[in-house]
Amino acid sequence: MKISELFNKNKQVFSFEIFPPKKDGSIETVFDTIEKLGDLEPAFISVTYGANGSGAKGNTVRIADVIKNKYGLETMAHLSCINHDKTEIDEILDRLKDCGVENILALRGDRSPDVEPKNVFRYAADLAEYISSKGGFHISGACYPEVHTEAEDAVSDILNLKKKVDSGVSHLISQLFFDNSAFYSFLERCRIAGIRVPIEAGIMPVTNAAQIQRMVTMCGASLPAKFSRIIQRYGDNPAALEDAGIAYAVEQIVDLLSNGVDGIHLYTMNRPAMAKKIVDAVKNLF
Ligand code: FAD
Repeated sequence: MKISELFNKNKQVFSFEIFPPKKDGSIETVFDTIEKLGDLEPAFISVTYGANGSGAKGNTVRIADVIKNKYGLETMAHLSCINHDKTEIDEILDRLKDCGVENILALRGDRSPDVEPKNVFRYAADLAEYISSKGGFHISGACYPEVHTEAEDAVSDILNLKKKVDSGVSHLISQLFFDNSAFYSFLERCRIAGIRVPIEAGIMPVTNAAQIQRMVTMCGASLPAKFSRIIQRYGDNPAALEDAGIAYAVEQIVDLLSNGVDGIHLYTMNRPAMAKKIVDAVKNLF
């Protein structure tokens, strides 16, 4: 099923994200994660793509195949383009087609100082346009409530997002954020710019202090005072921080759903037990 069909049902969508195993991780553990996440009945599970084009050799397609064809769940494969040429992208599209994966999150990917970009696809919009021209896929894209770190300013970022949507993207998933008001202002900017596609809010439950620092540095998410107080008080107590991180995510989700957002995309960090606690707390709201 194409993801856009999920949004035609007058229901808010709850989806999950997982990542392939790291270098020394086992793929069986990821399959086990999928089985447990499947019990929580997400609308779909997306699978990330390795940085610097490494996803081509990685397991994104294989995992999406298993989600779809072994567990019978809807899936979306992430695909980044900055380090690929057309032949490489074609190869991945063919593999996705062969296993019946219809949904792609078209991404540019992060620039790396160690890898010279191929510059065939400079932006995610170029990839979306290319996939669109091939036909057969539903294309989603990423968006940034607190503005992409490389963007000149909020206005040019939104205008670029509009170009991406006009290039064939019919659903957006947001970068994680901890301040819902930033997301609501972003939604307003989108609607003013004429972006009318469904936009899912990306929520990451924070459960350890080092992870927060990494996330904030990488994506520039702002930390509301009440969130910073949680870190200050429980940063050295992993069990307490996990409880507080889950409670904070649940509070964010309740507020987002009651404000009528199109959907919630939960960055599960491949932790089904944590995802279950969140789902149990909000399942009757969907
Ligand atoms: P783009 O939409 O191309 O935007 C990148 C920058 O270019 C922005 O600043 C934008 O304003 C600017 N821009 C866009 N078009 C133009 C134009 N025509 N002219 C000038 N400037 C322009 N990374 C991975 O490697 N693997 C993943 O699986 C992955 N999954 C992600 C999932 C989500 C939901 C999100 C939010 C991000 C994900 N990322 C992933 C990270 C993403 O690759 C980076 O944030 C990357 O820096 C930007 O990718 P993009 O697709 O948003 O880029």
